[in-house]
Amino acid sequence: MSLQIARGREAKPPLRTVRPRQDVRPQLKEATVAAPIALPAKKAALRFPVNSETRAFYKKFYPGTSTVEWNDWRWQMRARIRTRDELVRIFSLSADEFDAVSRYTGSLPVGITPYYASLMGLEDPREPLRRTHIMTGDEYLTTPGEDDDPLAEDHDMAAPGIVHRYPDRVLFLTTGTCSTYCRYCTRARVVGNPGGEYNFSTRQWEQALAYLEKHTEVRDVLLSGGDPLTLGDDKLDWLLGRLRAMKHIEFLRIGTKMPVVTPQRITKSLVAILKKYHPLWMSIHFTHPNELTDEVTESTARLADAGIPLGSQTVLMKGINDDIAVMKPLMQGLLKRRVRPYYLYQCDPIRGSAHFRTKVEKGLEIIKGLRGYTTGYATPIFAVDAPGGGGKIQIAPDFVAGRDGDDLLLRNFEDGVYRYPDPGGTLGAGK
Ligand code: SF4
Repeated sequence: MSLQIARGREAKPPLRTVRPRQDVRPQLKEATVAAPIALPAKKAALRFPVNSETRAFYKKFYPGTSTVEWNDWRWQMRARIRTRDELVRIFSLSADEFDAVSRYTGSLPVGITPYYASLMGLEDPREPLRRTHIMTGDEYLTTPGEDDDPLAEDHDMAAPGIVHRYPDRVLFLTTGTCSTYCRYCTRARVVGNPGGEYNFSTRQWEQALAYLEKHTEVRDVLLSGGDPLTLGDDKLDWLLGRLRAMKHIEFLRIGTKMPVVTPQRITKSLVAILKKYHPLWMSIHFTHPNELTDEVTESTARLADAGIPLGSQTVLMKGINDDIAVMKPLMQGLLKRRVRPYYLYQCDPIRGSAHFRTKVEKGLEIIKGLRGYTTGYATPIFAVDAPGGGGKIQIAPDFVAGRDGDDLLLRNFEDGVYRYPDPGGTLGAGK
């Protein structure tokens, strides 16, 4: 059975759906007391908060859509904004955006869930979330050092979909589908592109699994893509089950943006599946505090309540989040939602991304603006993913001020210099 992912169509899961057995025992006791008025099962399962701005948005642009439909992640996926006409129906496109969308022939299509669109500035082309998802003319400019595969993932492709760069862990590219397509995506060559570089199919998954079965040094598997949470519950359950059955794989991670852009995906049934495969961690892709809605509070709470440790990943982008006044509330808001800020990434030099990239020192400036000024847990690691396959390289502000004999001189977050007795040490000498 083919699992070929084609735009707008996903093939059936690799396993036959196993329906949960119904409990047919008579409910005699309950029958004698007044039952609480309950929503029909399907409706109850889809119950999810809808923030007031989003509600106004969908009443205006999706009239006739019920809350049950709106809160169904599959509806959100089907209703994604994919065409210029759909964009024009909802956004006041600038001439630049209109032209860029009209010229589009590239590998990364437009895709925005109605929910995520409801968070964007409909009239303002400079609004941060909109800038990350609607193409502009800048995307067609290639600058020196840019590449379609800047991290040389293809070079480290040990088996179809398996990037094996580090000794004990692998990246497993599971799908080419995302619910929204970020204009700065490092994997623009892979995602949203049917017939693209990787042919995501059961055969590919089987080849990847065969590789992992043989490579017992791999103890950590990061499922990514595309977005693994765009896979249906059955497929995900099957894949996680196969991985968990390998005794040497101690640790599973999922990299996803779904809890942010389609928070309705975090259904109770999905959480019940994920819970079976602990230890399972999740890295969630956040960009801006405007994403921290009631819906995201719910999606992250469901995951955290299931015992899934949550970390965030954020790409630093010019004019979008390269300001401590934006980054600090984002990081603090994540902590409030039990998401530990994990990585702040320098934007990868993907082709056509110069308009998003800041100078590297901007990242250091952000870290300096967090370190000491807010909870330590709210300060992520700032990293550059080295072009050419060097992997993530952490860059941190230097708090070593020098050395005075047996004293190490350290600079604190307010630039005060303090002595630490360090007899025989050499750190700081020559500064
Ligand atoms: S969600 Fe991730 S994989 Fe998908 S387009 Fe955005 S950055 Fe790329």
